[in-house]
Amino acid sequence: MSQYRTPPVILRGQTLAFNGNPFKQDPSSTLRHECDGAVMLEGGRIIAAGRAGDVISANPGYDVTHYGDDALIMAGFVDTHMHYPQTDIVASYGEQLLEWLERYTFPEEQRYGDPDYARLMADVFLEQCLRNGTTSASVYATVHPESVDAFFQAASDRNMRMACGKVCMDRNAPAELIDTAQTAYDQSAALLKRWHGKGRNTYAITPRFAPTSTPEQLEALGALWQENPNALMQTHISENAEEIKWVTELFDDLPDYFGVYDAFGLTGPGAIFGHAIHLTDRERAAMAASGSAIAHCPTSNAFLGSGVFNMAVNRGTPISLASDVGGGPDFSMFATLRAAAQAARYHGHSLHPVQAFWLATIGGAEVLRMGDRVGNLAVGMEADLTVLDLKSTEQIARRIDRAENIEDTLFAQMILADDRAVRETWIGGVRQYQATLDR
Ligand SMILES: [Zn+2]
Repeated sequence: MSQYRTPPVILRGQTLAFNGNPFKQDPSSTLRHECDGAVMLEGGRIIAAGRAGDVISANPGYDVTHYGDDALIMAGFVDTHMHYPQTDIVASYGEQLLEWLERYTFPEEQRYGDPDYARLMADVFLEQCLRNGTTSASVYATVHPESVDAFFQAASDRNMRMACGKVCMDRNAPAELIDTAQTAYDQSAALLKRWHGKGRNTYAITPRFAPTSTPEQLEALGALWQENPNALMQTHISENAEEIKWVTELFDDLPDYFGVYDAFGLTGPGAIFGHAIHLTDRERAAMAASGSAIAHCPTSNAFLGSGVFNMAVNRGTPISLASDVGGGPDFSMFATLRAAAQAARYHGHSLHPVQAFWLATIGGAEVLRMGDRVGNLAVGMEADLTVLDLKSTEQIARRIDRAENIEDTLFAQMILADDRAVRETWIGGVRQYQATLDR
């Protein structure tokens, strides 16, 4: 991040940070909230954080941006499962998963062999992330290597910490989107070498899902991951009943869906499985034992009618939150949190607001193995922040006037807020998005 040698700056407002895991101890005890807090940013990092009076008096003479009492400064959101080539097909009508892929996704993805179109859409996608306060994500490109280059170039231009990978499919997709076991390996390996660990980029080995890969392709990608264990591995699992039945038919010699990925070395720390709604008890136990993680995509699951993920029965596995744009229609992590709260209620539980905000920041960062760098407002962390307006609409303002404490304030935001709540988004200590007043 050395190209961003900006002068130090102090941001003042309410601040939100965590000093523990709210799933392992009393949630409220993990929260560090300052009613009048400040963070100081320099060289792309947070170099001071705490009470405004302490930070400012210890660092006299520096610029202070004071956002006022109704602003909350927090780490940017981390979204662990998105498809940038599906940005323009969100809200397409009337299909479940497999028909949705066929009818909307595959035709659109065929356009991404054109580097200019891919770059245009990568820019559109990343701007949407910024205006929603999302600073890091794990992103699927398409089968075309050009689509990965375009994405990482666009992310690098904004200095965003992003993960992305070439989607691999060598069967059950249109001919224009098909690779082979060998080209999937070769192209993924070349992209990994070109981008992984360069600047803030992370490569994610990306078989789309078991039905669109032959055993040979899954084996090749498992080998590639074994050769590059620091890369991530992302795919889909157990999203839809029809899909699960199809997997058991295609891989009838293997125990179940998770067993397929496990057989080819595609499970373990750094593996991120999207959805995981309908896992069997055996699969849940095997996934927990493997060290893999889940990307819970509640807006997508509701939109496609896939089912309702039960967080409570999957607690043995690290869980993160994701929009799954474009199966999920909304870039906003507020919408994702709202849907996650509804999914929890469906199963008779409540998602505590502190747990919710932890999942949407640190929890996601840990799943992407970036938890030592992003996801929290703490000294030494990279300065990827969002500044929220806690009274972004009249309705929210009236509700916040009644809020009893910060937990209540956070809960009201997750149920009521949208992109209008995002005033600013900072990347590596540089402001990359600022809401206009006439929005
Ligand atoms: Zn997906």
